[in-house]
Amino acid sequence: MNIEQQVKQTLFKIKLGKKKKILVALSGGKDSTVVCYLLKKFGYDVEGIHIDLGMGKYSEKCLVAIKELCEDLGIKLHVYDIKKEMGSSMCYIRSSVQSRKSLKNCAICGVIKKWILNKHGRKLNADYIVTGHHLDDEAQTFLLNILKGSPELNSNSGVISKNISDKKFIPRIKPLFYILEEDIRKYSLKKKLPVVYEKCPCAIDSYRIQIRDFMKKLSDKDKKKLMKNAEKVTERVGILKEVVNYCSVCGEPSRGKICRMCELLKK
Ligand code: AMP
Ligand code: ZN
Repeated sequence: MNIEQQVKQTLFKIKLGKKKKILVALSGGKDSTVVCYLLKKFGYDVEGIHIDLGMGKYSEKCLVAIKELCEDLGIKLHVYDIKKEMGSSMCYIRSSVQSRKSLKNCAICGVIKKWILNKHGRKLNADYIVTGHHLDDEAQTFLLNILKGSPELNSNSGVISKNISDKKFIPRIKPLFYILEEDIRKYSLKKKLPVVYEKCPCAIDSYRIQIRDFMKKLSDKDKKKLMKNAEKVTERVGILKEVVNYCSVCGEPSRGKICRMCELLKK
């Protein structure tokens, strides 16, 4: 099966309706670009959302590529400018968090992006948020959760988020869940999509990167096998339904009294 057939099958399995409003989180990289291209090709009602992280030349290049993609596909693009909305660039926010908390770059960025996507997705009346996460990402997360002592979090693993159901939480979909990163790269090149291939300049020194390097030693077959087994675990353990609170600072859905975003920004 080629990548198009595989993604179609994945979307069919979760019964994603063509009338639903889907917001694709576009980073400018190959994965989210390919997923956006495919959803549009399959006739879904898609719009793009990009968080401009204000990280100099890298962010500028990403925005140019995303604008080109959305123009080519004839879809609406929403840009959330972090400098304008939050007063400073991601690099600044991150170093200010790191002066108080010992957290790695990507962990901080991930929390902030998720918070923005949910909040703004809701404002835009999106039914779903789609991201470009692929099989390699998911296999890394699976191992990370085990190594960090939170194996129960793996029960959330899957094409669609299942653990939280709340009117303020927009379900997230990962149509590339079963696709290898390398196959996505090849497809983006074949289709000559506007993609920024360089890695985020701040993606350094994270535990995930160590895991990623370790996983490069695994064969494609083993990575697929790992995720098949991960699914079996989820099926056996069942979904860990989370109690949803609303953050006492920002009002967003949260596991605890205060959400992870507000926890990070707390002085
Ligand atoms: P990453 O954690 O950078 O590998 O990104 C995972 C997914 O999050 C991407 O495939 C995108 O769908 C989404 N994403 C990452 N960065 C951004 C961004 N700056 N704006 C919007 N979505 C993003
Ligand atoms: Zn909050």
